[in-house]
Order: sequence, then C-alpha cells, then structure tokens
Amino acid sequence: MTARTAILGGGALGLTLAYRLARAGEPVVVYEAGPDPGGLAAGFRVGPDGPWLEKFYHHLFGTDHAIVALIRELGLGDKLSWTTPSTSHLVGGKSYRLDGVVPAITFAPLPVPDRLRLLGGLGFLKVWPFPERLEGRTATAWIKRWMGARAYGVAFEPLFAGKFGPYADQVALPWIWSRIHSRTARLGYLRGGFQQLYESLAAAVKAHGGTVRLGTPVREVRQVDDASTVQDGGGRLRVTTAAGNETYDRVVSTLAPRLTYALAPDLPADFTQRYDWSLAYGAFCLILALDRPLMSEVYWLSVADPGYPFGVVVEHTNFQPAAEYGGRHLVYLGKYLPMDHPLMRATKAEALAEMLPHLARINPDFTPDWVTDSWSFAAPYAQPIVTTDYRARIPPRETPVPGLYLANMFQVYPQDRGQNYSVVLANQLAARLLAGPGAGV
Ligand SMILES: Cc1cc2nc3c(=O)[nH]c(=O)nc-3n(C[C@H](O)[C@H](O)[C@H](O)COP(=O)(O)OP(=O)(O)OC[C@H]3O[C@@H](n4cnc5c(N)ncnc54)[C@H](O)[C@@H]3O)c2cc1C
Repeated sequence: MTARTAILGGGALGLTLAYRLARAGEPVVVYEAGPDPGGLAAGFRVGPDGPWLEKFYHHLFGTDHAIVALIRELGLGDKLSWTTPSTSHLVGGKSYRLDGVVPAITFAPLPVPDRLRLLGGLGFLKVWPFPERLEGRTATAWIKRWMGARAYGVAFEPLFAGKFGPYADQVALPWIWSRIHSRTARLGYLRGGFQQLYESLAAAVKAHGGTVRLGTPVREVRQVDDASTVQDGGGRLRVTTAAGNETYDRVVSTLAPRLTYALAPDLPADFTQRYDWSLAYGAFCLILALDRPLMSEVYWLSVADPGYPFGVVVEHTNFQPAAEYGGRHLVYLGKYLPMDHPLMRATKAEALAEMLPHLARINPDFTPDWVTDSWSFAAPYAQPIVTTDYRARIPPRETPVPGLYLANMFQVYPQDRGQNYSVVLANQLAARLLAGPGAGV
C-alpha cells in the first residue's frame, strides 16, 4: 500500500516534495499556514491583475541548476531571463561596483595593496574545492588575516553585520566560501514573478491527485498509540488543524526546526535540545514604487555606511525592465532583524517614516513625492545565523518519531539558503522516500 504523506509548509521545499511524491502516485496533502503558496519566495500582485513581485527580493544564480530544471519541467522555462546587473557597495556616501575582477582592481575605497589582497583572497575562495577543511574557523579572522582588516571592514563587515548583527564576527568560514565559490555575477529571474512557479507546483500537485490546503496552519503532530483512534483506514501520525484531525503514515515538516518541535511533543527532549538552533533572524522589506529610478543602473547596493535603517537597497527595475510593471520603478529597502525587533511589527506608515528620509543620502534629488505606491512585509525565521557551531547542530532528516521527517532550509549548509537548495533537498528526500523502507533518508 502506498504511504499517505502530510507535508507541513507550502514553500519551495514542501511543494516540490509534494509534486515529486504525487507524480509518483503517492497520496499527499500539503498544509500551508499562509494564504498563498511560496513561503519566503511568495509574491504579491503589483497593481490589479499586474505581474507578481516577490515580497522579499529574489533572483537565481547561474549555479542554481535544480530550480532551473524544475522551472523547465513545469513548462515555465521560456520565462527565465538571465542578465548581469550591477552590484555595488555604498561607502562614504558613494556607490562603488564590486562585482568582478576589474571593479575589485579599481575599488577606490581601498588602497592598491589592499585591493590586490582582496582580489587574491576572493580568487582563492573561488577555486578552493574543499569547504570541509575550512570548518572551525570564522570568516572574520580568515579574511582579516589574508585580505586585511580594511578590506574586511569595507567589503565584508557590512554584509555580515546586515545578515547576522552582533554575530557578524562568528560567521563560519565555509559559509562565505560558498557565497564566493558558487555564486555568479549572472543572475536569473522568472519574468512575471517566482509566484508562478509556486502556483504551477500547487496546480501540478492537485493534477496528480494531491491536496494543497492554504490558510491551514498545523497545530500539532502526534503519534497515534491506540489503533482504534486511527481514522480513515491508516496512518500512525495525527495532524491537527483548526478543521480537525487527519492521520498519515508520514509527516514531513519543512518548518524551521524550532517551529516543528513546538508542534511535535512526542519528539524526545534530548533530540530537540541537541538540534534546537535558536539563532535566526527575521526579514523586513519596504517596497517602493517610484515614478522614476532611484539609482542609475545599480541593482544591488550593500550599505556599508553607518546610520541607515536598511542594509540593502535593491532596485528590481534595474534588473527587470520597469515596462513589465507599468513603468513603475520598484525598490526594496531590506533588513534582517531579531524577530522581536520593533520594525518586525511596524506598520507600513512607520516604516516609511523611518526609511524614506535616508534615501536622499543615496540620491540627493529624491523627494517623497516620487513614491506612488508602497508595501511592507516581515517574515520570521528568514535567515539562520551560521556561526562556527552551526554544522554540528543541523538536524537529521529522520527523527526518533517513526514516520516524522525534517526537511528545511536550516539543513542547507554551507550554502546560504535559497530556493534552489530547498528544491535540492526536496528532490533528494523524495527519491529516498520513494525508494521504500530501508533506503534511509
Ligand atoms: C530577504 C530574503 C531574500 C532572499 N533572496 C533569495 C534569492 O535572491 N534567491 C533565492 O533563491 N532565495 C532567496 N531567499 C531564500 C528563499 O526565499 C528561501 O530559501 C526559500 O524560499 C525557502 O523555502 P522553504 O520551502 O524551504 O521554506 P519557507 O519558504 O520558509 O516555507 C515554509 C512554509 O511553512 C509555512 N508554515 C509555517 N508554520 C506553519 C504551520 N504551523 N503549518 C503550516 N505551514 C506553516 C510558512 O508559511 C511557509 O510557507 C531569500 C529569503 C529572504 C528572506
């Protein structure tokens, strides 16, 4: 008899896994708390019936092969577009490119000897093939030693501080290795928004007999001890939502480990304590629609200068044409934050009041009347904080509760989490589950 599977979470991981299992003929139900599929990569419509735009800036790298293959498999390949937009750093009030060898050689904020050290260090990380040999060391110490404290301060510290706050100097060296080693300057986008991928995945799950329940947060997952309580003919794991209980042979949770542990009281304390990685930030984005460009050409601006309430300015329409959005110029102001930070609960008006005054420092001509529309979004558990202890705390996919599996972006390491790696995890887990008992996961 085929196993009945519940999947908690309808983001990239949950939906890809559901699609693979459903296509192989397995009964599968996805429970998604939010109103739409897509999780952290979900979008909203820019204008009535307009294209989708991600709530948080998203692009693909040339090495994101698994998600590109999935996009093609679902018939969306003709919407993929690839370009090399400009990536810059804001240092001393000026924007400098740092997205290639020539920009690094001419990177004015550093003296020439520091530029050469920076280039040497980046070149080493680009070609070094053994990330496991870099374990146990912090990126900060390594970069300061080999590239110099000035290069660290200008080119790396803003990124680390922006993503990891006070943990910036504890970031694991393999994490930055992966960013330099695997990422490309050439970036991809799904024209019309990544939401189309998640809508297609949800439709494909349904077309193969599966179910996707949106707006349905799971409250509890429990083992059913008494066979007489097993409903609808099978399953030893009971999933509880506001609508009631259903039983399954397998439950795969794609939620952050801490959220899963709170739902699954049968997981033993020694397991949850060992794999409870408490360090994670939320993400906040204010998105502006402007009647003209904010930055000339620059897509991605890392803010190295102090005093800004955002860590990055992403001008999406310097990556994709503004014409696709009815001529609107779309700019994200983004920040990773502790989940209890006031900005994570701020209204859009509060975020506008805090952030807009800083835009004149980026473009002195900017005035708030350029803003024709705006949106704000916050998400918890958006960025695991990857310190040198991280690797040992990555939870295994199999848990001590038979049939309960963990597959989530906290298991992505040393790569920075991304849609591609959630697809990779889903593909791997689907293959193992479909191989039957004994294959291991
Ligand atoms: C600011 C930002 C920028 C990013 N930029 C990029 C980028 O440029 N390129 C890229 O590829 N990736 C990027 N990412 C990362 C990418 O969004 C994630 O890696 C990917 O979407 C993770 O998918 P997932 O399915 O593993 O997890 P999630 O998307 O987190 O999915 C988990 C799902 O579980 C649901 N859920 C939570 N609790 C419950 C519950 N109790 N019951 C049911 N459902 C529940 C959530 O609503 C969510 O939909 C970015 C992320 C952020 C925050």
